Formats: sequence, structure tokens, C-alpha cells
Amino acid sequence: MTTRRHAEISGAGFAGLTAAAALAKRGWSVRVHERSSDLRTEGAGIVLWGNSLRVLDRLGATPDLESRAMRSPAYETRMNNVIKSQEDMEGVRWISVTRPHLYRTLLTVAREAGVEIVAGSEVSGATPDGVLTLASGETARADLIVGADGVNSAVRDALGIPLRRERSRDGITRFLVPRRKADLQALEPDTEWDNYIDFWNLEPRVLRVLYVPCNAEELYIALMAPVDDSQGSKVPIDLELWSSNFPHLRPVLEEAAQLPGRYYGYQTTRLDHWTEGRVALIGDAAHAMCPALAQGAGTAMQNAWTLAEAATASSDADMAASLSGWERRERPYTDRAQDRSQYYADTRQMAEGSQFQGDILETALYDPTDPHRHEVTA
Ligand SMILES: Cc1cc2nc3c(=O)[nH]c(=O)nc-3n(C[C@H](O)[C@H](O)[C@H](O)COP(=O)(O)OP(=O)(O)OC[C@H]3O[C@@H](n4cnc5c(N)ncnc54)[C@H](O)[C@@H]3O)c2cc1C
Repeated sequence: MTTRRHAEISGAGFAGLTAAAALAKRGWSVRVHERSSDLRTEGAGIVLWGNSLRVLDRLGATPDLESRAMRSPAYETRMNNVIKSQEDMEGVRWISVTRPHLYRTLLTVAREAGVEIVAGSEVSGATPDGVLTLASGETARADLIVGADGVNSAVRDALGIPLRRERSRDGITRFLVPRRKADLQALEPDTEWDNYIDFWNLEPRVLRVLYVPCNAEELYIALMAPVDDSQGSKVPIDLELWSSNFPHLRPVLEEAAQLPGRYYGYQTTRLDHWTEGRVALIGDAAHAMCPALAQGAGTAMQNAWTLAEAATASSDADMAASLSGWERRERPYTDRAQDRSQYYADTRQMAEGSQFQGDILETALYDPTDPHRHEVTA
């Protein structure tokens, strides 16, 4: 008789829930600890690309997810409201969706796979030999421990893994508001208001609005301003500042001005290593990145999936070596996504338009579910 292998996971964010569902579907018993007493997500909307959508396909989550998501006809870039480019993303899978909908979908998939999720359970650390410690003092032994507890990961810090943190000069405030499409059309009838539109103003001051339709009713808007711009980064937002710079967006900016919001400075964190013994780190715990490529959660999900694959293929005795082999194979894709996102944050080059070409699409096109993905072709 074989006993099921057991995983303990710290953090029920997108990374933790994906890893939990992927492991449970491979036969593991899985318990997830979430510090918050509510199971919910912060933020407004999110863009997902082929890499994470392929994982969600394999988890059986995409029919539900796509029933309330949107694939915009084009990614449009504007400078001072003049169109610079309209990229139709032919051959690239991508959707925008609200975070609450993605979160509910992942929770359902994880629970249906038999995952136990404990809310109000704070993790204080873990040891390489597979002991997880809770803030309550309780301990649990596992064959695999996953630190998916975000950018300030307690699991990572308890292991003492060296970390480099770079903060960027820009940040963003995100809102989920009603589409108000008819009102927007009245202001600018020629605009395709179903497009994802990246509105940039660099002169006379740096302000940017990401306009991201998520479904027929809900719009995700993200307002970017430099960290040192106290007026641009203020919440609730300064309606007159934003609507004088983006008058054609006034109806949806009025909606955003009624919401509390929170301004986030961009940051990139790079770790010396992602694994130690039976412990692996994924998501923002391992590799927080600037949102330029919209791949923080996407790479978290791809790494969650491939981690579950590697841990399941490993024998118990080889777990530590298997986890470091997983990091060696998978990490370069995420490192490059971090570098590219950081580059775009540093240069603001996305304002030039036509950016989704060549190497930039590597992460979006990566298929973490392809068993032959690391084979070298002659
Ligand atoms: C402005 C902005 C826009 C973005 N846009 C996109 C996008 O379009 N597409 C995309 O793919 N990514 C995007 N991202 C990145 C994405 O949001 C993150 O990379 C992703 O949410 C990280 O997920 P995670 O599960 O690793 O971490 P988190 O979402 O931080 O989840 C960690 C969870 O662990 C819990 N936790 C923390 N500490 C403990 C503890 N000690 N014990 C137990 N539980 C704990 C937390 O409460 C939380 O629920 C964006 C990020 C920003 C800032």
C-alpha cells in the first residue's frame, strides 16, 4: 500500500492556489494556510497570457474563467491621445479578467481537487527538512513545503535566503469600475472602446492610464504616476488632475474617484535561490516583478504547475535535488521576464507602441505544460 504524499503551502494567492490544485490533481494531499481571515484577492483586474492560460486549461478552469473574461480586439497605445499602434496580437492567447473572478475560479478548482484551505492561519517559517511552523506555535511535517506567501514571504525569510530588492520610480493605483461605454462613446465615437488602451502622457508630466475592459460590465483602470509625484499618486485620486490630462476618460475617472484605492510602487525582487531542501518558493515570494509585461501572476502559475510536476516525478529521497533541478530548468524564463519588465519600467519604452514583438513574447508563448519544452531541437 502506498501513502499519499503531503504538501503544506503558505499563502492562498494565485501562486499558492495554483500549486495546491496542481499537486492535488496529481494525487497529493494538500493543506494551504492563508493569513487573512477572508479568502479574497486585492487589486482590480489582471491580464493573463498563454503561459498561465495553458496551466488553467490543464486545471479545468478556463471554461468558467473565460465565461466572464475578455479578449480585446487590440492592444492600443496612445501618446497624448494620439494612436501610436494597435497590435492585434495574432497568434497570442491573452485575456483580461477581474481578480475576484480569477480568484473564485482558482478557489473552486482547488477545493474540487480536495485541497484543504485554512483561513486565518499565519505561517511563521519552515525548515529545509520539511517542517512548517505556524504563528500559533503549531508545527506540521510535509514531503513538500511551498512558500507562496507573497513579496514579504515568511517562509523565505525564515530560511534566510538572500534577496535583492529594486524599487522603481513609478507606481500604480488600480480600480474596478463600471464600463460606462455609452458615455465614453459619446465623448469619442471613433474609438474602439473594447480595445485594451494604454494611454501615455510624458509631457508636461508623466501620467499613464491603462484602460482594460474585463467583460461587458466591468472595466479595470490602472493609473500610473511617479512615486515622487504626490498629487498623481494620491488616493482617492485627484479627479481634476486625471480628467484634465485624460478628458476623454472622464466618466470612468469619476467612478474611480469615488473608490478608496491604494498606490503601489513597482518592485523587483531577486533571490539567491528558490529552493532549499524540501521547500520551494513561487510567485512574488520568489520573483516579484514590475507589471509592464503583466506576468507576475502568469509566471507564478507556470512555476506552480512545473513545481507540482517536478515534485511528483521525484522520489522522496531525491526531493531536494529534484527541486533544485526544477529551479535550474524553469527559472531562466522568469528571470528574463523580470529583466524585460524592469527594463520597460526603467525606460518607459512601452509608450512608443508596437512593443509586443520578438523576444518580448517569450513568456506569453511559453508552454509550461508541454512535456517536450526543454528538449533542444537540432
Ligand atoms: C499594479 C500591478 C499590476 C499587475 N498586473 C498583473 C497582470 O496583469 N498580470 C499578471 O500576471 N500579474 C500582474 N501583477 C502581478 C501579480 O499581481 C502578482 O505577481 C501576483 O498576484 C502574485 O501572486 P502570489 O500568489 O505570489 O502573491 P500574493 O498575491 O501576494 O499572495 C500571497 C498570499 O499569501 C498570504 N500570506 C502572506 N504572508 C503569509 C503568511 N505568513 N502566512 C500565511 N499566508 C500568508 C497573503 O495574505 C496572500 O493571500 C500585477 C502587480 C501589480 C502590483
